[in-house]
Amino acid sequence: MSNVRPLTDTFGRVHTNLRISVTDRCNIRCFYCMPEENTQFRPRDELLTFEEIARFTRIVAALGINKVRLTGGEPLVRAELPKLIEMLRRTPGIEEIALTTNGILLAEQAEALKRAGLDRLNISLDGLSEETFKRISRREGLDRVLEGIFAARRVGFERIRLNAVAIRGITEAEVIPLGEFARRHGMEMRFIEFMPLDAEGNWETDQVISGEEIRRLLESEFGPLVPVERSDPSQPAVDFRFADGVGRIGLISPVSQPFCDQCNRLRLTAEGKVRNCLFSNEEWDALALLRGQGTDEQIVELIRSSIAAKKVGHGIDTPDFVRSERAMYQIGG
Ligand code: SAM
Repeated sequence: MSNVRPLTDTFGRVHTNLRISVTDRCNIRCFYCMPEENTQFRPRDELLTFEEIARFTRIVAALGINKVRLTGGEPLVRAELPKLIEMLRRTPGIEEIALTTNGILLAEQAEALKRAGLDRLNISLDGLSEETFKRISRREGLDRVLEGIFAARRVGFERIRLNAVAIRGITEAEVIPLGEFARRHGMEMRFIEFMPLDAEGNWETDQVISGEEIRRLLESEFGPLVPVERSDPSQPAVDFRFADGVGRIGLISPVSQPFCDQCNRLRLTAEGKVRNCLFSNEEWDALALLRGQGTDEQIVELIRSSIAAKKVGHGIDTPDFVRSERAMYQIGG
């Protein structure tokens, strides 16, 4: 390919990270993400095929993308996902393949995912009580998530990250048990501020528990959290370890402390739209090119247009912020 300038936006941010949503479907219905009933999913024939995703990845890898994260919806409901991982594994330039999952189907798939070449796992775990799980996800299944976490460990996944969305009135009671869980099992527990991406449009600023507040809650129980040097400045979490060295905490604060100046992420939705930000109101249609007669050069041009239009920040904290028309499950978190 002739066009090998890196994917640099007008603010000098170089894009090396691609989030790929493999489906908008999910097996639970978290209120911060999806509608409870009658969700309108994309027809299956509108979703990118594995070949289309692999071609897109090959094209962006030649432009400097070296990490991909598979997400959704729930990526493990997509049939034969390990096949896609194998295809991405063979893509020159891709150094790391990660996956974010709710863990419900993980116990049965962990081994195949590992064998296919998946490097890293983030598993959502908003709380340790079935009541909290049901209140958030409007389904049952905490026991399956926990089984999934331990199965992932058994088949050799290391540095597993557990993600909890921090929501006022729900998360306060879960913070200490989750911190203890991370310590007991030597995992990293990350708390992410609730963002305005819920399908039902009920998000309010006062539902957000800031990273700072989570830190104070943890410190009141476990003593001082010690900041850990960031190995990758573009990673969204600020990392801490407990003073006694057991377990780790990550605080992701997109609302109270936006980290857009370090953003290196590009997104591909399940139906082949390129997005330059979770909160963007604009999308670039790669599906039309991938499925039609589009050349690699045309796809590069489309991606560069998206990168060139990237704004300085998501603007949640500004008075003229307009919510994206798409909810988290339709974008890929
Ligand atoms: N289904 C998978 C899962 O549950 O991890 C992957 C997709 S999910 C959209 C990815 C992550 O986004 C999850 O950790 C989820 O908790 C988080 N998330 C979803 N909606 C959110 C919101 N409104 N604010 C903050 N995080 C959110």
